[in-house]
Amino acid sequence: MAKSLLIVDDSSTMRKIIMRTIRMSGLDVGATAEAGNGLEAIEKLKAERFDFMLCDINMPEMGGAELVQKARQMPECGNTRIIMVSTESSEQLIEGLLANGANGYITKPFTPEKFHEKLSPLWN
Ligand SMILES: [Mg+2]
Repeated sequence: MAKSLLIVDDSSTMRKIIMRTIRMSGLDVGATAEAGNGLEAIEKLKAERFDFMLCDINMPEMGGAELVQKARQMPECGNTRIIMVSTESSEQLIEGLLANGANGYITKPFTPEKFHEKLSPLWN
């Protein structure tokens, strides 16, 4: 079944690249929305249900780590899979995010194959 996605990144170019890459990955993508930082993302999450949130870490206003914590306190996000997409690759950071409720982690640069590998097990 098609999944709805919220793509959160402070670079609009990167949001477009993520969108295109995930469509190329062969995953069944339905409705999509974008946000430029954590605060914008929270507003979108309050207004609409998303199956997946793909989330950058380094962003102004509110970064990805704080967004994960806040989103996990929102009943609207109970079923939303949160996948971090970032250049940050420190193991400690990744473990902390997963412990706080993120469901997966994809490092930039990425490929359609990488998206498929990481997301298809959660795409059900
Ligand atoms: Mg960024």
